[in-house]
Amino acid sequence: MILRSQMLLVSMLLLIGESAAETAIVEQECRRIAGKLASVAFTECMDRNLQLTDGISVKDAPILIKEYPPLLDQRQPVGRVLLIGGIHGDEYSSVSVIFKWMRTLDSYHSGLFHWRIAPLVNPDGLLQDDSHRNNANGVDLNRNFPTRNWEDEAQVYWINKTGRNPRRYPGPGPLSEPESRWLVREINTFKPDVIVSVHAPHGIVDYDGPQDGPYKLGRLYLNLLGTYPGSLGRYAGVQEQIPVVTIELPYAGIMPTPAEINNIWLDLVKWLSQNLPVSTMADENRYDMDPS
Ligand SMILES: [Zn+2]
Repeated sequence: MILRSQMLLVSMLLLIGESAAETAIVEQECRRIAGKLASVAFTECMDRNLQLTDGISVKDAPILIKEYPPLLDQRQPVGRVLLIGGIHGDEYSSVSVIFKWMRTLDSYHSGLFHWRIAPLVNPDGLLQDDSHRNNANGVDLNRNFPTRNWEDEAQVYWINKTGRNPRRYPGPGPLSEPESRWLVREINTFKPDVIVSVHAPHGIVDYDGPQDGPYKLGRLYLNLLGTYPGSLGRYAGVQEQIPVVTIELPYAGIMPTPAEINNIWLDLVKWLSQNLPVSTMADENRYDMDPS
């Protein structure tokens, strides 16, 4: 049904023009998000002016972004930050909290950083009656990234260490999924200096990459959990040397208080401003893979 409606909207492109068709697709997606998340109203979603990307989920849902570009008449940004939520579709708060931070940025974007924000990387996982962690192919997107020796490690880990837990299924091969391919394309084209990925419900901050992560964001304290074959932390943080800050909110289904949401944000911005630009990037190693 979604596929048919998306195709209809695409054919509308020819009739009503690109921007109107894009607005219609974003509006449809905002209706679905607001229908699922009590913390995100339809008008709030629409007010963020999300944009389409070339990212399309298994079930043809658009992966939307909001960009806060450099304000070059004011200052040169000190770095590019890729902020993502909802890579696991049953971690509702990880999506909602990003909508709150986008609202803050809509009022206070100063050009200090160049932000690209994807509040919901796994729309198929979230936007169904029974939301689940994995994408529509049953793949844990956070085990599907092209870490070295993926073929030898990710499947073996899944079989031997998780007992074939379906919630941890890494997929038939690295980047087998359109959502993970999209994220790697984003990393390769946007070239973030830092990636911030929001999850729940472990109630900590995790970090992978060069230098040290933030000791504390709001009431969440740094707790290095290590990485898994195929995870974003191992792929981007360890392998590509792009700092990956993983924010694990305390509850998947309960939002932090507004004060805590703000405190996490303020601590994150403070850490970013003190730690960007990162000088130890392995740039020459980052663009040698064609994810398509
Ligand atoms: Zn997660």
